[in-house]
Amino acid sequence: MSGEALTLGALRRMAAKRLSAVFGSEGTPALDSRLLIAAVLDIEPNRLSLFDYRAVSGAERTRIEDYLDRRIAGEPVARIIGTREFWGLPIGLSAATLVPRPDTEILVEAVLAWFDRHGGRERVRRVVDLGTGSGAILLALASALPEITALGIDLSEEAVRTARDNAERLGLADRCLFVRGDWSQAAAGADIVVSNPPYIQSGVMPGLPREVRDYDPSLALDGGADGLDAYRAILADLRRILVPGGALFLEIGFDQDKAVSGLVEAEGFATTLHRDLAGWNRVVEAERISRGSAASLLGRA
Ligand code: GLN
Repeated sequence: MSGEALTLGALRRMAAKRLSAVFGSEGTPALDSRLLIAAVLDIEPNRLSLFDYRAVSGAERTRIEDYLDRRIAGEPVARIIGTREFWGLPIGLSAATLVPRPDTEILVEAVLAWFDRHGGRERVRRVVDLGTGSGAILLALASALPEITALGIDLSEEAVRTARDNAERLGLADRCLFVRGDWSQAAAGADIVVSNPPYIQSGVMPGLPREVRDYDPSLALDGGADGLDAYRAILADLRRILVPGGALFLEIGFDQDKAVSGLVEAEGFATTLHRDLAGWNRVVEAERISRGSAASLLGRA
């Protein structure tokens, strides 16, 4: 692509053709080229076609071609443009954060449904996110639940910086606090604990799709030999963090429903499973059963 001046529309079609020649039916060439070009021109992607007759400058074209080359070399679009939409919010990314996945919105929906069953979305509640990464889950929750205060914890300083930047940009920083540390940093008293922890078995890591293996941080993916290390760590500390009557929401791998439900139930929680868009059980919801409230009145709890 070089030579005489192009309109944006023509460039968009050429870009899509180039991507479709490389990725074939595996790819989403029209969407990818729209997102890449919109990022260079700082136009909202859904409005890009309104600018089809705009001329593209040489400098813009060079940057767009650079983005296309990176995409063709295998870099995911979200990594190139540094942002991914999650729950309708633009979430900034860094090397220390996962690209938020559409399936993770199931977890957000499950938490909102819990609020609907427990006094509504306007209730004042405390939410803790263990391994918060970009903060996508908490920021989605805070945007939908106006009275929650939220704490996100992550081992990675860079992830915490990314999450804080996202909270600032989305105007949610007054209710969403992000701290670096391990999960013991969470104070007692959370009504809701959420987590999308690393859950891939170490042995499976080398066989992951390239876009995941080469670009998502292994700290956010590798769940140890059986993929369950993070769940055990969360459950070990959960009774301290979560109030009686509170609930835990865990994202799980597509084949981990029985294993994770088993671990959670062994701790005395009642579980409910939520399916993802492909039909896999993707989220384990666990309600802390308050132990014998009547008995405790008699001091026999
Ligand atoms: N769902 C992610 C994947 O498919 C894994 C995320 C995780 O380990 N929490 O790669």
